[in-house]
Amino acid sequence: MQVYTKILIGMAVGAVLGLTLGPNSSLLEHDRYSYRNAASAELYLDRIDETTRLELPAVPLDFTVEETVREGVLDETGLVVEVDAWVRVSFSITEKLALLDDEGALRKRLGKRTGDPVVAWLKLNQIRLEGGGIQTTPQPISGLGDDIIAFISPVGDVFMRLIKMVIVPLVFASLLVGVASLGDVRKLGRMGGKTLGLYLMTTAVAVTIGLSVAHLVQPGDFIDKADRAALVAQFAGDASSKASAAAGAPSTLDNILSIIPLNPIESLSSGNMLQIIFFAVVLGIALTMLGQGEGQPVVRFFDRIQQAMIVVIHMVMAIAPYGVAALVAEVVGTSGFSVLKALLVYGLAVLLGLTLHAGLVYGGLVVVKARLKWLDFMRAIRPAQLIAFSTSSSSAALPVSMECAEQNLGVSNATSSFVLPLGSTVNMDGTALYQGVAAIFIAQVFQMDLTLADQLSIVLAATMASVGAAGVPGAGMVTLAMVLTASGIPQVGLALILGMDRLLDMFRTAVNVTGDLAVTSVMAVSEGEKLEVLSTAADQADPERGFEHRLDKEEHPVEPD
Ligand code: ASP
Repeated sequence: MQVYTKILIGMAVGAVLGLTLGPNSSLLEHDRYSYRNAASAELYLDRIDETTRLELPAVPLDFTVEETVREGVLDETGLVVEVDAWVRVSFSITEKLALLDDEGALRKRLGKRTGDPVVAWLKLNQIRLEGGGIQTTPQPISGLGDDIIAFISPVGDVFMRLIKMVIVPLVFASLLVGVASLGDVRKLGRMGGKTLGLYLMTTAVAVTIGLSVAHLVQPGDFIDKADRAALVAQFAGDASSKASAAAGAPSTLDNILSIIPLNPIESLSSGNMLQIIFFAVVLGIALTMLGQGEGQPVVRFFDRIQQAMIVVIHMVMAIAPYGVAALVAEVVGTSGFSVLKALLVYGLAVLLGLTLHAGLVYGGLVVVKARLKWLDFMRAIRPAQLIAFSTSSSSAALPVSMECAEQNLGVSNATSSFVLPLGSTVNMDGTALYQGVAAIFIAQVFQMDLTLADQLSIVLAATMASVGAAGVPGAGMVTLAMVLTASGIPQVGLALILGMDRLLDMFRTAVNVTGDLAVTSVMAVSEGEKLEVLSTAADQADPERGFEHRLDKEEHPVEPD
Protein backbone atom coordinates (compact mmCIF):
# COMPACT_ATOMS: atom_id res chain seq x y z
CA MET A 1 0.00 0.00 0.00
CA GLN A 2 1.31 3.47 -0.81
CA VAL A 3 2.27 5.88 1.91
CA TYR A 4 -0.48 8.36 1.19
CA THR A 5 -3.16 5.67 1.27
CA LYS A 6 -1.96 4.67 4.72
CA ILE A 7 -1.95 8.30 5.84
CA LEU A 8 -5.49 8.74 4.51
CA ILE A 9 -6.64 5.72 6.47
CA GLY A 10 -4.88 7.14 9.55
CA MET A 11 -6.75 10.41 9.12
CA ALA A 12 -10.10 8.68 8.81
CA VAL A 13 -9.45 6.53 11.86
CA GLY A 14 -8.37 9.64 13.81
CA ALA A 15 -11.51 11.54 12.84
CA VAL A 16 -13.78 8.68 13.91
CA LEU A 17 -11.85 8.29 17.15
CA GLY A 18 -12.06 11.99 17.92
CA LEU A 19 -15.78 12.16 17.21
CA THR A 20 -16.74 9.06 19.16
CA LEU A 21 -14.28 9.20 22.05
CA GLY A 22 -13.31 12.89 22.26
CA PRO A 23 -14.37 15.45 24.87
CA ASN A 24 -17.32 16.58 22.76
CA SER A 25 -18.54 13.10 21.93
CA SER A 26 -22.27 12.68 22.33
CA LEU A 27 -21.74 9.02 23.24
CA LEU A 28 -19.92 9.81 26.47
CA GLU A 29 -21.36 11.43 29.56
CA HIS A 30 -20.60 15.15 29.79
CA ASP A 31 -19.38 15.43 33.35
CA ARG A 32 -16.88 18.25 33.16
CA TYR A 33 -16.99 21.95 32.26
CA SER A 34 -14.20 23.44 30.29
CA TYR A 35 -13.64 27.18 30.42
CA ARG A 36 -11.48 28.63 27.69
CA ASN A 37 -12.24 32.11 28.91
CA ALA A 38 -11.83 31.73 32.65
CA ALA A 39 -11.88 35.51 33.21
CA SER A 40 -15.63 35.50 32.78
CA ALA A 41 -16.32 32.29 34.67
CA GLU A 42 -18.66 33.01 37.54
CA LEU A 43 -17.48 31.01 40.46
CA TYR A 44 -18.81 31.38 44.01
CA LEU A 45 -17.73 29.85 47.28
CA ASP A 46 -21.34 29.90 48.40
CA ARG A 47 -24.16 29.67 45.85
CA ILE A 48 -26.58 31.78 47.92
CA ASP A 49 -24.05 34.45 48.86
CA GLU A 50 -23.19 36.79 45.96
CA THR A 51 -20.33 38.34 47.92
CA THR A 52 -18.32 35.14 47.74
CA ARG A 53 -17.57 35.56 44.04
CA LEU A 54 -14.12 34.39 43.10
CA GLU A 55 -12.12 35.89 40.30
CA LEU A 56 -10.09 33.65 38.05
CA PRO A 57 -7.33 34.56 35.61
CA ALA A 58 -7.76 33.96 31.89
CA VAL A 59 -6.19 30.52 31.79
CA PRO A 60 -8.22 27.63 30.43
CA LEU A 61 -9.60 25.59 33.30
CA ASP A 62 -11.33 22.28 33.66
CA PHE A 63 -13.94 21.79 36.35
CA THR A 64 -15.08 18.36 37.47
CA VAL A 65 -18.79 18.16 38.27
CA GLU A 66 -19.67 17.20 41.87
CA GLU A 67 -23.35 18.12 41.94
CA THR A 68 -25.81 19.85 39.59
CA VAL A 69 -28.69 22.16 40.54
CA ARG A 70 -31.41 22.71 37.95
CA GLU A 71 -33.74 25.69 37.62
CA GLY A 72 -36.74 26.42 35.44
CA VAL A 73 -36.51 29.06 32.71
CA LEU A 74 -39.01 30.17 30.08
CA ASP A 75 -38.24 28.94 26.59
CA GLU A 76 -39.21 30.80 23.41
CA THR A 77 -42.74 29.41 23.41
CA GLY A 78 -43.39 30.52 27.01
CA LEU A 79 -43.08 27.04 28.51
CA VAL A 80 -40.97 26.41 31.58
CA VAL A 81 -38.01 24.17 30.87
CA GLU A 82 -35.55 22.83 33.38
CA VAL A 83 -31.91 23.64 32.69
CA ASP A 84 -28.70 23.16 34.63
CA ALA A 85 -28.13 26.41 36.50
CA TRP A 86 -25.43 25.75 39.04
CA VAL A 87 -22.80 23.07 39.41
CA ARG A 88 -20.68 22.36 42.40
CA VAL A 89 -17.29 21.81 40.82
CA SER A 90 -13.86 20.84 41.94
CA PHE A 91 -10.62 21.82 40.28
CA SER A 92 -6.94 22.05 41.09
CA ILE A 93 -5.47 25.32 42.12
CA THR A 94 -2.62 26.38 39.84
CA GLU A 95 0.17 28.76 40.55
CA LYS A 96 -1.44 31.48 38.48
CA LEU A 97 -4.72 31.17 40.26
CA ALA A 98 -5.62 33.93 42.71
CA LEU A 99 -8.99 33.76 44.36
CA LEU A 100 -10.23 37.23 45.19
CA ASP A 101 -13.44 38.87 46.29
CA ASP A 102 -15.20 41.89 44.72
CA GLU A 103 -12.79 44.38 46.29
CA GLY A 104 -9.81 42.49 44.96
CA ALA A 105 -8.79 41.31 48.42
CA LEU A 106 -7.85 37.75 49.08
CA ARG A 107 -11.04 36.50 50.63
CA LYS A 108 -10.07 33.10 51.66
CA ARG A 109 -7.02 31.08 50.95
CA LEU A 110 -8.25 28.04 49.14
CA GLY A 111 -5.60 25.42 49.17
CA LYS A 112 -2.03 26.19 49.99
CA ARG A 113 0.03 24.55 47.33
CA THR A 114 -0.23 24.18 43.58
CA GLY A 115 -2.37 21.18 42.85
CA ASP A 116 -4.50 21.52 45.97
CA PRO A 117 -8.14 20.84 45.20
CA VAL A 118 -10.76 23.59 45.44
CA VAL A 119 -14.53 23.13 45.54
CA ALA A 120 -16.78 26.00 44.46
CA TRP A 121 -20.08 26.76 42.69
CA LEU A 122 -19.97 27.44 38.97
CA LYS A 123 -22.81 29.52 37.58
CA LEU A 124 -23.94 28.42 34.13
CA ASN A 125 -25.12 31.08 31.73
CA GLN A 126 -27.95 30.10 29.44
CA ILE A 127 -28.05 31.92 26.15
CA ARG A 128 -31.33 31.61 24.29
CA LEU A 129 -30.67 30.98 20.63
CA GLU A 130 -32.87 32.82 18.17
CA GLY A 131 -33.33 29.76 16.04
CA GLY A 132 -34.71 27.94 19.10
CA GLY A 133 -33.03 26.10 21.95
CA ILE A 134 -30.73 27.18 24.71
CA GLN A 135 -26.97 27.09 24.77
CA THR A 136 -24.98 26.74 27.95
CA THR A 137 -21.67 28.51 28.52
CA PRO A 138 -19.27 27.15 29.51
CA GLN A 139 -19.83 24.05 27.49
CA PRO A 140 -20.03 20.70 29.21
CA ILE A 141 -17.57 18.11 27.93
CA SER A 142 -16.76 14.53 28.69
CA GLY A 143 -14.00 14.08 31.23
CA LEU A 144 -13.31 10.59 29.97
CA GLY A 145 -13.05 11.92 26.39
CA ASP A 146 -10.60 14.55 27.57
CA ASP A 147 -8.48 11.87 29.21
CA ILE A 148 -8.60 9.65 26.15
CA ILE A 149 -7.39 12.47 23.91
CA ALA A 150 -4.67 13.35 26.43
CA PHE A 151 -3.60 9.71 26.29
CA ILE A 152 -3.52 9.60 22.47
CA SER A 153 -1.90 12.98 21.83
CA PRO A 154 1.71 11.98 22.70
CA VAL A 155 1.67 9.74 19.60
CA GLY A 156 1.00 12.83 17.51
CA ASP A 157 3.67 14.74 19.41
CA VAL A 158 6.27 12.05 18.72
CA PHE A 159 5.54 12.30 15.00
CA MET A 160 5.57 16.11 15.01
CA ARG A 161 8.85 16.25 16.91
CA LEU A 162 10.54 13.70 14.66
CA ILE A 163 9.56 15.57 11.54
CA LYS A 164 10.56 18.94 12.99
CA MET A 165 13.90 17.46 14.03
CA VAL A 166 14.81 17.11 10.36
CA ILE A 167 13.82 20.60 9.18
CA VAL A 168 16.83 22.72 10.19
CA PRO A 169 19.64 20.35 9.12
CA LEU A 170 17.81 19.46 5.91
CA VAL A 171 17.08 23.02 4.84
CA PHE A 172 20.51 24.31 5.72
CA ALA A 173 22.39 21.44 4.11
CA SER A 174 20.36 21.23 0.92
CA LEU A 175 20.24 24.96 0.37
CA LEU A 176 23.99 25.27 0.85
CA VAL A 177 24.68 22.41 -1.54
CA GLY A 178 22.13 23.77 -4.03
CA VAL A 179 23.63 27.26 -4.07
CA ALA A 180 27.20 25.96 -4.21
CA SER A 181 26.41 23.74 -7.17
CA LEU A 182 24.70 26.61 -8.96
CA GLY A 183 27.88 28.60 -8.70
CA ASP A 184 26.43 31.67 -10.38
CA VAL A 185 25.36 34.63 -8.29
CA ARG A 186 23.45 36.29 -11.10
CA LYS A 187 21.32 33.23 -11.72
CA LEU A 188 20.61 33.06 -8.01
CA GLY A 189 19.52 36.69 -7.87
CA ARG A 190 17.24 36.22 -10.85
CA MET A 191 15.69 33.12 -9.31
CA GLY A 192 15.23 34.83 -5.96
CA GLY A 193 13.49 37.80 -7.53
CA LYS A 194 11.19 35.67 -9.66
CA THR A 195 10.33 33.36 -6.78
CA LEU A 196 9.45 36.20 -4.41
CA GLY A 197 7.47 37.96 -7.12
CA LEU A 198 5.41 34.86 -7.86
CA TYR A 199 4.82 34.17 -4.18
CA LEU A 200 3.59 37.72 -3.49
CA MET A 201 1.43 37.79 -6.60
CA THR A 202 -0.37 34.53 -5.84
CA THR A 203 -0.93 35.73 -2.27
CA ALA A 204 -2.47 39.03 -3.33
CA VAL A 205 -4.77 37.15 -5.73
CA ALA A 206 -5.70 34.78 -2.89
CA VAL A 207 -6.84 37.61 -0.58
CA THR A 208 -8.83 39.12 -3.42
CA ILE A 209 -10.58 35.80 -4.02
CA GLY A 210 -11.26 35.60 -0.27
CA LEU A 211 -12.84 39.07 -0.25
CA SER A 212 -14.95 38.31 -3.33
CA VAL A 213 -16.23 35.01 -1.96
CA ALA A 214 -17.16 36.69 1.33
CA HIS A 215 -19.11 39.38 -0.52
CA LEU A 216 -20.83 36.79 -2.64
CA VAL A 217 -21.81 34.40 0.14
CA GLN A 218 -22.37 37.02 2.86
CA PRO A 219 -21.61 34.59 5.71
CA GLY A 220 -22.20 37.35 8.27
CA ASP A 221 -25.93 37.29 7.52
CA PHE A 222 -26.18 33.71 8.73
CA ILE A 223 -25.09 34.33 12.28
CA ASP A 224 -27.66 35.63 14.74
CA LYS A 225 -27.22 37.80 17.82
CA ALA A 226 -27.50 34.93 20.29
CA ASP A 227 -24.85 32.85 18.53
CA ARG A 228 -22.66 35.89 18.42
CA ALA A 229 -23.06 36.44 22.18
CA ALA A 230 -22.38 32.78 22.92
CA LEU A 231 -19.23 32.70 20.80
CA VAL A 232 -17.90 35.93 22.28
CA ALA A 233 -18.62 34.66 25.82
CA GLN A 234 -16.76 31.46 25.11
CA PHE A 235 -13.70 32.71 23.28
CA ALA A 236 -13.17 36.35 24.34
CA GLY A 237 -10.23 35.43 26.59
CA ASP A 238 -8.39 33.56 23.85
CA ALA A 239 -9.12 36.32 21.36
CA SER A 240 -7.55 38.99 23.52
CA SER A 241 -4.42 36.91 23.98
CA LYS A 242 -4.09 36.55 20.18
CA ALA A 243 -4.61 40.27 19.79
CA SER A 244 -1.89 41.09 22.30
CA ALA A 245 0.45 38.59 20.66
CA ALA A 246 -0.12 40.44 17.38
CA ALA A 247 0.49 43.81 19.02
CA GLY A 248 3.92 42.61 20.13
CA ALA A 249 4.90 41.63 16.58
CA PRO A 250 7.68 43.69 14.96
CA SER A 251 7.07 46.15 12.11
CA THR A 252 7.61 45.31 8.44
CA LEU A 253 11.00 47.07 8.29
CA ASP A 254 12.17 45.21 11.39
CA ASN A 255 10.94 42.02 9.78
CA ILE A 256 13.08 42.63 6.72
CA LEU A 257 16.14 43.62 8.75
CA SER A 258 15.82 40.60 10.97
CA ILE A 259 16.42 38.30 7.99
CA ILE A 260 20.13 39.04 8.42
CA PRO A 261 21.26 36.95 11.37
CA LEU A 262 23.43 38.43 14.08
CA ASN A 263 24.63 35.01 15.02
CA PRO A 264 24.01 32.23 12.48
CA ILE A 265 24.53 29.53 15.08
CA GLU A 266 21.76 31.07 17.13
CA SER A 267 19.50 31.14 14.06
CA LEU A 268 20.17 27.46 13.51
CA SER A 269 19.53 26.57 17.12
CA SER A 270 16.33 28.60 17.34
CA GLY A 271 15.14 27.43 13.93
CA ASN A 272 14.66 30.91 12.43
CA MET A 273 14.00 29.85 8.83
CA LEU A 274 14.55 33.11 6.98
CA GLN A 275 17.86 33.69 8.78
CA ILE A 276 18.94 30.12 8.06
CA ILE A 277 18.11 30.55 4.38
CA PHE A 278 20.05 33.81 4.25
CA PHE A 279 23.14 32.34 5.87
CA ALA A 280 23.08 29.16 3.81
CA VAL A 281 22.91 31.21 0.59
CA VAL A 282 25.78 33.46 1.67
CA LEU A 283 27.94 30.55 2.80
CA GLY A 284 27.12 28.57 -0.36
CA ILE A 285 28.22 31.49 -2.56
CA ALA A 286 31.36 32.01 -0.47
CA LEU A 287 32.36 28.36 -0.82
CA THR A 288 32.31 28.64 -4.61
CA MET A 289 34.61 31.64 -4.39
CA LEU A 290 37.31 29.88 -2.37
CA GLY A 291 39.05 28.89 -5.57
CA GLN A 292 39.76 25.65 -7.39
CA GLY A 293 37.80 22.97 -5.55
CA GLU A 294 38.76 24.34 -2.14
CA GLY A 295 35.16 24.41 -0.99
CA GLN A 296 34.53 20.88 -2.19
CA PRO A 297 35.04 18.97 1.10
CA VAL A 298 32.56 21.21 2.93
CA VAL A 299 29.98 20.95 0.17
CA ARG A 300 30.40 17.19 0.06
CA PHE A 301 30.00 17.00 3.84
CA PHE A 302 26.68 18.87 3.70
CA ASP A 303 25.58 16.83 0.72
CA ARG A 304 25.91 13.66 2.80
CA ILE A 305 24.07 15.31 5.70
CA GLN A 306 21.27 16.16 3.32
CA GLN A 307 21.04 12.61 2.00
CA ALA A 308 21.02 11.19 5.51
CA MET A 309 18.21 13.55 6.48
CA ILE A 310 16.16 12.29 3.56
CA VAL A 311 16.59 8.75 4.85
CA VAL A 312 15.42 9.97 8.26
CA ILE A 313 12.32 11.45 6.65
CA HIS A 314 11.56 8.07 5.13
CA MET A 315 11.84 6.44 8.53
CA VAL A 316 9.50 9.05 10.01
CA MET A 317 7.00 8.57 7.20
CA ALA A 318 6.76 4.96 8.21
CA ILE A 319 5.01 6.00 11.44
CA ALA A 320 3.13 8.87 9.78
CA PRO A 321 -0.24 7.06 9.67
CA TYR A 322 -0.26 6.65 13.46
CA GLY A 323 0.95 10.18 14.14
CA VAL A 324 -1.59 11.61 11.74
CA ALA A 325 -4.40 9.60 13.33
CA ALA A 326 -3.52 11.02 16.76
CA LEU A 327 -3.27 14.60 15.50
CA VAL A 328 -6.58 14.45 13.67
CA ALA A 329 -8.31 12.77 16.63
CA GLU A 330 -7.20 15.60 18.86
CA VAL A 331 -8.42 18.40 16.60
CA VAL A 332 -11.71 16.77 15.66
CA GLY A 333 -12.36 15.65 19.23
CA THR A 334 -11.88 19.04 20.81
CA SER A 335 -13.79 21.18 18.28
CA GLY A 336 -17.33 21.46 19.54
CA PHE A 337 -20.25 20.84 17.23
CA SER A 338 -22.23 23.86 18.41
CA VAL A 339 -19.46 26.12 17.13
CA LEU A 340 -19.42 24.34 13.80
CA LYS A 341 -23.15 24.76 13.33
CA ALA A 342 -23.09 28.48 14.09
CA LEU A 343 -20.14 29.06 11.76
CA LEU A 344 -21.07 26.61 9.05
CA VAL A 345 -21.62 29.17 6.30
CA TYR A 346 -18.45 31.05 7.17
CA GLY A 347 -16.45 27.81 7.13
CA LEU A 348 -17.95 26.80 3.80
CA ALA A 349 -17.13 30.23 2.35
CA VAL A 350 -13.48 29.76 3.34
CA LEU A 351 -13.44 26.28 1.80
CA LEU A 352 -15.07 27.56 -1.38
CA GLY A 353 -12.43 30.27 -1.66
CA LEU A 354 -9.61 27.80 -1.07
CA THR A 355 -10.96 25.44 -3.72
CA LEU A 356 -11.33 28.24 -6.25
CA HIS A 357 -7.83 29.49 -5.59
CA ALA A 358 -6.26 26.05 -5.87
CA GLY A 359 -8.22 25.16 -9.00
CA LEU A 360 -7.94 28.44 -10.89
CA VAL A 361 -4.64 29.97 -9.83
CA TYR A 362 -2.52 26.88 -9.18
CA GLY A 363 -4.32 24.92 -11.86
CA GLY A 364 -3.48 27.69 -14.33
CA LEU A 365 0.14 27.98 -13.24
CA VAL A 366 0.78 24.25 -13.24
CA VAL A 367 -0.90 23.54 -16.57
CA VAL A 368 0.14 26.62 -18.51
CA LYS A 369 3.52 27.47 -17.03
CA ALA A 370 4.82 24.14 -15.73
CA ARG A 371 3.14 22.13 -18.50
CA LEU A 372 2.00 19.37 -16.20
CA LYS A 373 -1.37 17.69 -16.03
CA TRP A 374 -3.31 19.05 -13.05
CA LEU A 375 -4.33 15.67 -11.67
CA ASP A 376 -0.83 14.25 -12.09
CA PHE A 377 0.53 17.21 -10.18
CA MET A 378 -2.01 16.78 -7.37
CA ARG A 379 -1.24 13.08 -7.14
CA ALA A 380 2.49 13.73 -6.98
CA ILE A 381 2.20 16.16 -4.08
CA ARG A 382 -0.44 14.29 -2.10
CA PRO A 383 1.89 13.11 0.70
CA ALA A 384 2.93 16.72 1.35
CA GLN A 385 -0.67 17.92 1.34
CA LEU A 386 -1.71 15.21 3.78
CA ILE A 387 1.11 16.01 6.19
CA ALA A 388 0.30 19.72 5.91
CA PHE A 389 -3.36 19.02 6.55
CA SER A 390 -2.84 16.82 9.57
CA THR A 391 -0.08 18.86 11.22
CA SER A 392 -1.44 22.32 10.24
CA SER A 393 2.14 23.38 9.75
CA SER A 394 3.85 24.30 6.48
CA SER A 395 7.19 23.99 8.23
CA ALA A 396 6.49 20.45 9.34
CA ALA A 397 5.42 19.57 5.81
CA LEU A 398 8.58 21.07 4.30
CA PRO A 399 10.81 17.97 4.30
CA VAL A 400 8.01 15.96 2.71
CA SER A 401 7.32 18.76 0.19
CA MET A 402 10.97 18.69 -0.84
CA GLU A 403 10.83 14.94 -1.25
CA CYS A 404 7.67 15.20 -3.36
CA ALA A 405 9.13 17.95 -5.55
CA GLU A 406 12.34 16.07 -6.24
CA GLN A 407 11.21 12.46 -6.32
CA ASN A 408 7.65 12.74 -7.62
CA LEU A 409 7.82 15.82 -9.85
CA GLY A 410 11.43 15.63 -10.94
CA VAL A 411 12.39 19.12 -9.76
CA SER A 412 16.15 19.55 -9.31
CA ASN A 413 17.53 19.65 -5.81
CA ALA A 414 18.98 23.11 -6.45
CA THR A 415 15.55 24.56 -7.25
CA SER A 416 13.51 22.73 -4.65
CA SER A 417 15.93 23.46 -1.84
CA PHE A 418 15.83 27.16 -2.64
CA VAL A 419 12.20 27.76 -3.55
CA LEU A 420 10.45 25.51 -1.02
CA PRO A 421 12.06 26.62 2.27
CA LEU A 422 11.40 30.20 1.20
CA GLY A 423 7.81 29.34 0.38
CA SER A 424 7.12 27.60 3.67
CA THR A 425 7.70 30.85 5.54
CA VAL A 426 6.96 33.51 2.95
CA ASN A 427 4.10 32.10 0.90
CA MET A 428 0.79 31.44 2.64
CA ASP A 429 -1.99 31.87 0.15
CA GLY A 430 -4.49 29.76 2.06
CA THR A 431 -3.87 31.81 5.18
CA ALA A 432 -4.19 35.11 3.34
CA LEU A 433 -7.41 34.00 1.63
CA TYR A 434 -8.91 32.92 4.92
CA GLN A 435 -8.00 36.28 6.43
CA GLY A 436 -9.87 38.02 3.64
CA VAL A 437 -13.02 35.98 4.28
CA ALA A 438 -12.68 36.33 8.07
CA ALA A 439 -12.25 40.11 7.94
CA ILE A 440 -15.36 40.58 5.80
CA PHE A 441 -17.31 38.08 7.89
CA ILE A 442 -16.52 39.90 11.14
CA ALA A 443 -17.31 43.25 9.55
CA GLN A 444 -20.66 41.87 8.36
CA VAL A 445 -21.54 40.53 11.81
CA PHE A 446 -20.77 43.91 13.34
CA GLN A 447 -22.67 45.59 10.49
CA MET A 448 -19.74 47.69 9.35
CA ASP A 449 -19.53 49.02 5.82
CA LEU A 450 -16.05 48.61 4.44
CA THR A 451 -14.89 51.12 1.83
CA LEU A 452 -12.80 50.13 -1.15
CA ALA A 453 -9.79 51.66 0.60
CA ASP A 454 -10.46 49.50 3.68
CA GLN A 455 -10.53 46.43 1.49
CA LEU A 456 -7.34 47.38 -0.31
CA SER A 457 -5.68 47.72 3.06
CA ILE A 458 -6.90 44.20 3.87
CA VAL A 459 -5.25 42.89 0.68
CA LEU A 460 -2.00 44.68 1.50
CA ALA A 461 -1.97 43.76 5.18
CA ALA A 462 -2.87 40.11 4.57
CA THR A 463 -0.17 39.77 1.88
CA MET A 464 2.43 41.26 4.22
CA ALA A 465 1.14 39.23 7.15
CA SER A 466 1.51 36.01 5.19
CA VAL A 467 5.20 36.84 4.67
CA GLY A 468 5.69 37.47 8.37
CA ALA A 469 3.68 34.53 9.72
CA ALA A 470 5.57 31.40 10.71
CA GLY A 471 4.45 28.08 9.25
CA VAL A 472 3.07 26.76 12.52
CA PRO A 473 -0.48 25.94 13.64
CA GLY A 474 -2.60 28.98 14.40
CA ALA A 475 -0.09 31.55 13.11
CA GLY A 476 -2.67 32.96 10.72
CA MET A 477 -5.01 33.77 13.58
CA VAL A 478 -2.40 35.97 15.25
CA THR A 479 -1.60 37.87 12.08
CA LEU A 480 -5.33 38.21 11.40
CA ALA A 481 -5.41 40.47 14.46
CA MET A 482 -2.98 42.78 12.61
CA VAL A 483 -5.05 42.66 9.44
CA LEU A 484 -8.16 43.62 11.38
CA THR A 485 -6.39 46.55 13.00
CA ALA A 486 -5.18 47.78 9.62
CA SER A 487 -8.75 48.00 8.36
CA GLY A 488 -10.39 49.20 11.58
CA ILE A 489 -12.42 46.06 12.29
CA PRO A 490 -12.89 45.33 16.02
CA GLN A 491 -10.49 42.67 17.27
CA VAL A 492 -13.09 41.16 19.57
CA GLY A 493 -14.40 39.70 16.32
CA LEU A 494 -11.62 37.14 16.60
CA ALA A 495 -13.66 35.49 19.33
CA LEU A 496 -16.37 34.78 16.76
CA ILE A 497 -14.22 32.58 14.57
CA LEU A 498 -11.82 31.09 17.10
CA GLY A 499 -13.84 27.96 17.72
CA MET A 500 -13.56 26.94 14.11
CA ASP A 501 -10.03 28.14 13.52
CA ARG A 502 -8.14 24.94 14.17
CA LEU A 503 -10.19 22.99 11.64
CA LEU A 504 -9.88 25.63 8.93
CA ASP A 505 -6.16 25.80 9.68
CA MET A 506 -5.81 22.27 8.32
CA PHE A 507 -7.34 23.19 4.98
CA ARG A 508 -5.53 26.48 4.56
CA THR A 509 -2.18 24.88 5.40
CA ALA A 510 -2.76 22.23 2.73
CA VAL A 511 -3.40 25.07 0.26
CA ASN A 512 -0.29 26.93 1.47
CA VAL A 513 1.84 23.90 0.69
CA THR A 514 0.12 23.30 -2.66
CA GLY A 515 0.99 26.90 -3.57
CA ASP A 516 4.63 26.42 -2.61
CA LEU A 517 4.83 23.33 -4.81
CA ALA A 518 3.00 24.94 -7.73
CA VAL A 519 5.42 27.87 -7.72
CA THR A 520 8.34 25.46 -7.37
CA SER A 521 7.30 23.61 -10.54
CA VAL A 522 6.89 26.88 -12.41
CA MET A 523 10.32 28.03 -11.26
CA ALA A 524 11.89 24.73 -12.24
CA VAL A 525 10.48 24.92 -15.77
CA SER A 526 11.45 28.56 -16.13
CA GLU A 527 15.00 27.58 -15.20
CA GLY A 528 14.99 25.14 -18.09
CA GLU A 529 14.27 21.94 -16.19
CA LYS A 530 12.13 19.24 -17.70
CA LEU A 531 9.55 17.97 -15.20
CA GLU A 532 8.24 14.49 -15.25
CA VAL A 533 5.62 13.18 -12.85
CA LEU A 534 6.52 9.86 -11.29
CA SER A 535 4.03 7.22 -12.32
CA THR A 536 2.94 4.53 -9.90
CA ALA A 537 4.56 1.89 -12.09
CA ALA A 538 7.88 3.73 -12.20
CA ASP A 539 7.64 4.31 -8.47
CA GLN A 540 7.28 0.63 -7.78
CA ALA A 541 9.88 -0.44 -10.32
CA ASP A 542 12.64 1.86 -9.06
CA PRO A 543 13.35 1.58 -5.35
CA GLU A 544 15.48 4.71 -5.53
CA ARG A 545 12.51 6.94 -6.30
CA GLY A 546 9.38 7.88 -4.44
CA PHE A 547 8.48 7.25 -0.83
CA GLU A 548 8.16 3.52 -1.03
CA HIS A 549 10.96 1.01 -0.60
CA ARG A 550 13.66 3.55 0.12
CA LEU A 551 14.32 1.97 3.46
CA ASP A 552 14.80 -1.46 1.93
CA LYS A 553 18.32 -0.46 1.00
CA GLU A 554 21.25 -2.28 2.47
CA GLU A 555 23.12 -0.61 5.30
CA HIS A 556 26.76 0.29 4.81
CA PRO A 557 28.57 0.67 8.11
CA VAL A 558 30.91 3.66 8.13
CA GLU A 559 34.31 2.57 9.42
CA PRO A 560 36.49 5.23 11.04
CA ASP A 561 39.94 5.54 9.38
N1 ASP B 1 -0.83 26.82 9.90
C1 ASP B 1 -0.51 27.63 8.76
C2 ASP B 1 0.78 27.15 8.11
O1 ASP B 1 1.62 26.60 8.76
C3 ASP B 1 -0.42 29.07 9.10
C4 ASP B 1 -1.77 29.55 9.51
O2 ASP B 1 -2.59 29.86 8.64
O3 ASP B 1 -2.08 29.57 10.71
O4 ASP B 1 0.95 27.29 6.95
